[in-house]
Amino acid sequence: MKRIFYFILTTLGALVFMYCPPPQPPSAPDAGLYHTYAEINDELQQLESTFPQLAKVVELGKSVENRSIRAIKISDNVAGNENEPQVVFVGGHHAREWISVDVPFLLAKYLLENYAGNARIKNLVDLGEIWILPMLNPDGHQYSVDKNRLWRKNRRNNGDGSYGVDLNRNYSYHWGGPGSSGDTFSETYRGTQAFSEPETQILRDFINNRSFRDMISFHNYSQLVLFPWGYTNSPAPDAALLGQLAGSMADSIFSIHGKRYTAQQSSALYIASGDATDWLYGTTSVPAFTLELRPRTSSPGFLLPESEIQPTFEENLPASLYLIEWSLAAAPVNRHP
Ligand SMILES: [Zn+2]
Repeated sequence: MKRIFYFILTTLGALVFMYCPPPQPPSAPDAGLYHTYAEINDELQQLESTFPQLAKVVELGKSVENRSIRAIKISDNVAGNENEPQVVFVGGHHAREWISVDVPFLLAKYLLENYAGNARIKNLVDLGEIWILPMLNPDGHQYSVDKNRLWRKNRRNNGDGSYGVDLNRNYSYHWGGPGSSGDTFSETYRGTQAFSEPETQILRDFINNRSFRDMISFHNYSQLVLFPWGYTNSPAPDAALLGQLAGSMADSIFSIHGKRYTAQQSSALYIASGDATDWLYGTTSVPAFTLELRPRTSSPGFLLPESEIQPTFEENLPASLYLIEWSLAAAPVNRHP
């Protein structure tokens, strides 16, 4: 009797084992050919190791969930401060906009890998300081990889069951105005006050501690080159210059793969208050652009196939180089320091 009982028990045990295999260790979150937070950090570090004279990775601070926000500085004699014209490219304000991280990252890689063999690239790296901050919202990006591909905001716990502040509505210039929301559950929730979020504080302090001549903030989608203002339909004081720069960038994008990006005032897309470009331009008069990358329409919208990473980078390369070269030639503007 005892033996039969034992037999039944072990048979049952074996059956349970067969039908419930032990859990596999979870595989590392993956974004395919798009870079995750961990991958972007590894690759920035590799660029610094491969090009120690030209590249320096700088830790700027920590996100809400304590991830590092990093920028890479690209210049000759990169360790020193040569008082050269500075330009900045920022990606990844919005979590689901993965291409907005990969395009500035690939720009950094391209500048470094082509320095030795391309006289044009060497010239602008020698004469300027190019700062690239590919992922401003690492928590949101990781959440988009792990849990919800279409997550937009950061991962602030708002304390009422909702999460996230729209970082691109959290800057101080006309903060709280139309095109931003006071509803914590909204996709465009602006936060409890201007610069309530560590991520926007980090970009603010990073920019205020330097003297940039212009900025591109990458987003997607809709293929637009946007210039201030976003908070109002009134034209910016430098609308003619901003429009000309945006138009030239759109033309150079078109020249590569025939993709039409439209240059227009930001508010023509929709009114948005408290974004990064209005803040930089509004507080310093430094030209600042929101570059809405591929695709053009909601299909595929944020789900841009990874086969389009490289061509999207390729077409935005000449636009980025154009703006860097404009910065090297232009007189610095900083009317409201
Ligand atoms: Zn965006």
